[in-house]
Amino acid sequence: MTYLVHWQRDRCAAVLTTFDIPTALILTAICTLLMSVSLLLAARPSLPSHRSLRRWAVAALGQGLGWLLVGMRGGVPDIWSIVVGNGVILFSLSLLYHAVAEFLNRSPTRLPDVISGASVLLLVVFTYGSASLMARIVIMSLATATLMLLTGLTVLRGSEEWRPMSYWFTALGFLLGAGLSLARAIGAPLLDPAMTNPLASNLVQNATFVSGYAGLILLTFGFLLMHHDRAQADLARLATRDGLTGLYNRAMFEHLAQKEIARAQREQRAASLLLLDLDHFKAINDTYGHAAGDQILQTVALLLDRSLRVRDVIGRYGGEEFLVLLPDTNRTGALTVAEHLRAAIAAAKMDVIAPALRITVSIGVAELGGDGYASLFRRADQALYRAKLAGRDRVVTHDLPPPASLAA
Ligand code: GH3
Ligand code: MG
Ligand code: MG
Repeated sequence: MTYLVHWQRDRCAAVLTTFDIPTALILTAICTLLMSVSLLLAARPSLPSHRSLRRWAVAALGQGLGWLLVGMRGGVPDIWSIVVGNGVILFSLSLLYHAVAEFLNRSPTRLPDVISGASVLLLVVFTYGSASLMARIVIMSLATATLMLLTGLTVLRGSEEWRPMSYWFTALGFLLGAGLSLARAIGAPLLDPAMTNPLASNLVQNATFVSGYAGLILLTFGFLLMHHDRAQADLARLATRDGLTGLYNRAMFEHLAQKEIARAQREQRAASLLLLDLDHFKAINDTYGHAAGDQILQTVALLLDRSLRVRDVIGRYGGEEFLVLLPDTNRTGALTVAEHLRAAIAAAKMDVIAPALRITVSIGVAELGGDGYASLFRRADQALYRAKLAGRDRVVTHDLPPPASLAA
């Protein structure tokens, strides 16, 4: 056991002292270059959401090139390895910020570009004016910390309710990177203030280059996962929501209604179904056009959503017909709700289409008995038919079905 501990300790010490930074930089460069080429190949130009992915890929390419130039210190003129190399690293970090802002539809600030530009000017001063390696290390570390902090905060900013794990992962990655860079700005001058070789190995140097290498790979994973999560959410919305009104589509409504009905029957609670059909909608389309008709459908959907409880399930059956399932609501309660909806729709102003235009709706109501969704729907449909026959703009209920024993 003791032997094992010593062996581990000796190995760690060996890694620390034999860690070769130019090799690490070349590995980082190769890895990021390959990663960005794969991203560029995978990001399809036809998808708008992939624009931010292409930006990220270019930024990763910049990181790879920048690290490669920095790693060539001594082999190429200083202008390339110090000014251009570090400049490319900073501007590509700023491009990572822009990729994130674009993906999140945030209006970007120019602050990251200003920070990068100002830092490059300072690097020139501390290379050709009063040359100081430590000043350059502190400048690079502080600039990197600020750029990563800005990007991490951009991921976390905003008031969206929906923020999946991948967002937290990426944001924390950027914030951790910012913290490490800040630690380098403080730690480097403390550990070896007289340092002359920027590629020399010591604790701060090794930590910086290892975390830079692993960090970019992890952040790229995080950003890809953010794309993946958004694509999944888009797909789920497409599969369950009606494109025009945003209400549940028929399939999803039926799925949720069936679940609610099973629960109501299990717990012996009431539930009711409303079937709404806008009156003379064809004439409205013919008079005002289909675009106006679409606007009316959206207004009605919004009205339904605002007037009902969160627990009520609202769907678009198709065309100008809507469905509402009211949990814990008997026939009397459902009648009151339906009458309230009818009156709200009849009173809604459609000023944008025509000042005097009013829409009316006929509603069929049925309370759940011992039957299932199909029978409940049939009864609401019959009630709606009677509402239409009786002159429209009204609510009609259907009696409960006879008990199962009598129906048999
Ligand atoms: P009733 O009072 O008997 O319900 O008469 P109605 O004209 O509303 O009924 P009908 O079934 O004859 O016509 C429904 C109309 O709804 C026909 C169709 O053009 C229109 N419609 C269906 N879906 C949409 C849509 O998505 N957008 C628009 N603008 N119109 C739609
Ligand atoms: Mg209809
Ligand atoms: Mg109609």
